[in-house]
Amino acid sequence: MIYADNAATTRLSKTALNAMMPYFSEIYGNPSSLHTAGQEAAEALAEARETVAGCIGCLPKEIYFTSGGSEADNQAIISAAVLGERKGKKHIISTAFEHHAVLHTLKKLEKQGFEVELLPVGSIGTVTPEQVKNAIRPDTCLVTVMYANNEIGSILPIAEIGAVCREKGVIFHTDAVQAAGHLKIDVKEQNIDMLSISAHKFHGPKGAGALYVKTGIPLTNIIEGGAQERGKRAGTENIPAIVGMAAALKEATDNIDKNAKKVAALRDKLIDGLSKIPKSALNGDPMNRLPGNVSFCFEGIEGESLLLLLDAKGICASSGSACTSGSLDPSHVLLAIGRPHEVAHGSLRLSLCEENTEEEMDHIIAEVPKIVERLRSISPLWKDLESGKKQFVL
Ligand SMILES: *Cc1c(COP(=O)(O)O)cnc(C)c1O
Repeated sequence: MIYADNAATTRLSKTALNAMMPYFSEIYGNPSSLHTAGQEAAEALAEARETVAGCIGCLPKEIYFTSGGSEADNQAIISAAVLGERKGKKHIISTAFEHHAVLHTLKKLEKQGFEVELLPVGSIGTVTPEQVKNAIRPDTCLVTVMYANNEIGSILPIAEIGAVCREKGVIFHTDAVQAAGHLKIDVKEQNIDMLSISAHKFHGPKGAGALYVKTGIPLTNIIEGGAQERGKRAGTENIPAIVGMAAALKEATDNIDKNAKKVAALRDKLIDGLSKIPKSALNGDPMNRLPGNVSFCFEGIEGESLLLLLDAKGICASSGSACTSGSLDPSHVLLAIGRPHEVAHGSLRLSLCEENTEEEMDHIIAEVPKIVERLRSISPLWKDLESGKKQFVL
């Protein structure tokens, strides 16, 4: 099997697994307990916090552990909204192609009277610091812009956007779930006030994440209960997962240049090969791009059929379109970069990691064109395009 869906989730690394093992059955105390067993767990928690902080350039006390990227996004945005509301500031700036953890949280705030402005992301899928600067108003309480897009791989100018927000005194949050462990992050240098990460996107376990919050920004609880995470996130800590996250992030950060170089070479080989398919187009920023992201649209086919046929050939990939989840709407990300509905439906995302090989890329490059051709040969839409009844877009 070829696994090329690392943007959805990654394999747990051996290092992370080994680090986690003792915390399931040997060191199983509750970190809130005062006895030795509890204090051993508390020590592991403190050490993990220090490790995660070290990997992104903040203080340990600026790290809050969560159940993942979604929770971190929710808590960051809601906290900034609560602060804004107290000052009568209810304008929030974000982008049209954020993850649903951000977009749906913003939708909820809209229903509570907040004004949410989603910046357009243009045809390559990015926003400029100028766009952010021009959108900031006296009543803006938050700018939330993702570090890198999960579907099309564009990397955004986070440090520059951070600088604009810092200058204007507006809280800046970034969903860095696709960036952490893959791109260098330094929250101080990059003027970031809040940042979300998720362990399972960098070979850590599922169900663990972290929110960095700059000292001085008060968080609002979204889960009430005990006094864990300095009273800001109740619930007994998932010690094995937190330890695994720290180990995985450290490993990824230590090898970041080596891995990025290797993965980007695989990515470029794949992009080169798939670009030869007629009526195809690469999605996302061709220059500032996640090392592992390959995203294409192929005209005249359905992404779902492509995925199923690839799966039958042992290739695990993903499509942006959401037909499988019961909706006929294609991906909001592909629509945001201006792909028409029928083109957005023919999308394919292959997301790579350092475990992938050149041979695997050769295999994908050999299979995808055959499957695209086969699907086109039975597609009524393709027939209309070829006969000139409909116009090609790509
Ligand atoms: C995966 C992902 C999330 C959600 O993270 P979970 O840990 O799965 O909740 C949020 N944002 C982006 C960009 C992601 O890729």
